[in-house]
Amino acid sequence: MKKVIFATGNSGKMKEIRMILKDLTIEGEEVAILSMKEAGIQTEIVEDGGTFAENALIKAKAVAACAQGAIVLADDSGLEIDYLNKEPGIFSARYMGENTSYHEKNRNLIERLAGVPDERRTARFVCAIACVLPDGEVLGCEGTVEGRIGYEEKGENGFGYDPIFIVPEYGKSTAQLTEEEKNEISHRGKALRRMKELLSIHYN
Ligand code: IMP
Repeated sequence: MKKVIFATGNSGKMKEIRMILKDLTIEGEEVAILSMKEAGIQTEIVEDGGTFAENALIKAKAVAACAQGAIVLADDSGLEIDYLNKEPGIFSARYMGENTSYHEKNRNLIERLAGVPDERRTARFVCAIACVLPDGEVLGCEGTVEGRIGYEEKGENGFGYDPIFIVPEYGKSTAQLTEEEKNEISHRGKALRRMKELLSIHYN
């Protein structure tokens, strides 16, 4: 069985990646998908890239250095708000400090958009995925979902900025979508499905 290690400690991401990659085969073999913890890998990673793609690659390379021949995947994601020059962007997790609640971060972003009309509240979630193969070759891809910033927090599902991110097609925030609905349209869902295609093309 081939090993794929996903460079995250986040169990929600592991669940999503397992669902999407469940029928992936590599060189005719089934694939075991492991978190860093399950693979017994602990490493300090300094995410000092300037883009989502650079940060995903930094994480994937750091884990690949400890992964002895496994395929390593890593992602980096965040929210870009056009009116705020794409803030919080790559600093999405660190915006206003790692320990500030998302309720406060969301309230702050809504305040910064006070008086801004609908058509200028455009935003997107971006997810970059990097893959380091056992021979050192690198694959990369990105997924995005377009939306706009709402006027108040809505919905209880999801996490992070979901309560303020409105998807026009649904007229709902991503925190008001079911897990299945969100995975179908989400930046991470799109990027993971694309990475699955890239791996299939590479190996089969
Ligand atoms: P990371 O990719 O785990 O570094 O996450 C980056 C940050 O982007 C998260 O902590 C959230 O603040 C934000 N983010 C990324 N994806 C989503 C999403 O699907 N919903 C809400 N917030 C998200």
